[in-house]
Amino acid sequence: MKDDIVTKEHETNFIHDFIDEDISAGRYPDRPIYTRFPPEPNGYLHIGHAKAICLNFTTAEKYGGKCNLRFDDTNPAREDTEYVEAIEKDVRWLGFKWDELRFASDYFDEMYECAVRLIRAGKAYVDDQSAEEIRRARGTLTEPGRESPFRSRGKEENLLLFEEMKQGIYADGDKVLRAKIDMASPNMNLRDPVIYRISSGEHHSSGDAWRIYPMYDFAHPIEDAIEGVTHSLCTMEFEDHRPLYDWVLESLEWPFAPRQIEFARLNLTRTVMSKRYLKELVDDGFVDGWDDPRMPTLAGLKRRGYTPSAIREFCERIGVAKANSIVEMEYLEYFVREDLKAKVESRNVVFDPIKVVITNWPEDGGGELEDAEMENNREVPELGARTVPFGRELWIDGADFMENPSKKYFRLYPGNEVRFKGAYFITCGEVVKDADGRVAELRCTYDPATKSGTAFESRKVKGTIHWVEASTAVKITVREYGYLMRENEEGENERDPDSVREYRCVAEPSLANARPGERFQFFRHGYYIADEKLTDPDSGGDKVFNRTVGLKSSWKG
Ligand code: ATP
Ligand code: MG
Repeated sequence: MKDDIVTKEHETNFIHDFIDEDISAGRYPDRPIYTRFPPEPNGYLHIGHAKAICLNFTTAEKYGGKCNLRFDDTNPAREDTEYVEAIEKDVRWLGFKWDELRFASDYFDEMYECAVRLIRAGKAYVDDQSAEEIRRARGTLTEPGRESPFRSRGKEENLLLFEEMKQGIYADGDKVLRAKIDMASPNMNLRDPVIYRISSGEHHSSGDAWRIYPMYDFAHPIEDAIEGVTHSLCTMEFEDHRPLYDWVLESLEWPFAPRQIEFARLNLTRTVMSKRYLKELVDDGFVDGWDDPRMPTLAGLKRRGYTPSAIREFCERIGVAKANSIVEMEYLEYFVREDLKAKVESRNVVFDPIKVVITNWPEDGGGELEDAEMENNREVPELGARTVPFGRELWIDGADFMENPSKKYFRLYPGNEVRFKGAYFITCGEVVKDADGRVAELRCTYDPATKSGTAFESRKVKGTIHWVEASTAVKITVREYGYLMRENEEGENERDPDSVREYRCVAEPSLANARPGERFQFFRHGYYIADEKLTDPDSGGDKVFNRTVGLKSSWKG
């Protein structure tokens, strides 16, 4: 059902309808359709940004146009070079190539000139009021604002004061430059918005060259116009700012005006999508960095095993709309599962291992079946097969044995026979326990007539389980992830402290050679990736695997 709704949205993209209109109207006759992705380098990109990235780059692609990556680095206090590098890497990882890499801070001179032009045109003034005074005089939705006592300052005085602001004569907050528009406008954003402020912060790129910084609403249209952007795609919260966007370029008599188009942000259940909040999780040590596999950041999703193609397909299918909505996390998971299904090879890994001893198998080895053949991917024969050692002592999953089985339990229990995948039918005999009463070993027998690949149609068994041969098994550590956020009793979102679980597992020998970043299906368990960074010091340097996603979808398609 939901899948249907989403698919329809993806078929009609209202942004492309607007662009088609602009092309038919000949609005941008002499330039390509040009978009940009403009992150502020104050954190790592998250899956919400992926939606904006995909939209900007694929729109440019569709129209044979161009798309820039532009860092919107006009706020010295929050920005950092670490983030610049991480963002470039993430956009590339998603598979997009920008036409030009730009920094808003490269335009500081030009923006300053633009502000001077506004002052000369009588469209901007220096205000000495404090931020608090300005806020109080702004009025409300039902009451007009009050004009500043400094609104009627002469041009020459404004030019001088603005120059002094630039020279660093005043302290942060002493003065601001405001656009002179309309204190009675029904749109609060047009009530003489602040367009430049003083900040003594160190800028990540320009250092202390500037003591004044442009505000977003003034800077953004100029950045777009300088780069020749035709369609400036942004999220809905900027809809009410569009008249100001247009006012800035009109007032500067810019010969060409980009068109701002807004779309709804992506929100996902069970996580948070705000860099500020994600930074808190990192700073508090709740997660292990921006690339913690639980994070909705692209770096986190990558480390968790998500593929760029799954994320792109997800972004495409959720579509673009004007109405805000929350997409279920299961929908994102569906796409990575679909993508991995036909790509990755299967491996046998046993969780919570129980030892099985096949008592009628020759003790000195040399049994009939030394190696079992296993298909690498049941659905994709081209991925071939591998052999895994078989033998007298094996490990099976704790969940595949029950001493007192419930009614519908078809796996191993005393007296029951099951198929050991790729090997034989095996019957469970005696259950040996340790001093604490825990199951230490299952003494079983195999039936030589049931060797895998031979005809043994006469008898059927209901359960098939997987196994790992004990003498060649390798130990691995597996991390499974829940969700970052859960709902508490009051229905509020809160951090889920139980969002990661660690298991010591045993695996078939080939996993000892898994390369960091290599993905597998752990047979009957899910999709996993060898962690890029970790080996487990607590267990003598075992390889660590992250669960990307389970095998089954709880998504109701
Ligand atoms: P955050 O609140 O997470 O810090 P932001 O909007 O402040 O996000 P920017 O770096 O300014 O982050 O965002 C760059 C671009 O990505 C903007 O065009 C913004 O509209 C878009 N974007 C950010 N979050 C989302 C989201 N959840 N869904 C779609 N687009 C988004
Ligand atoms: Mg922002």
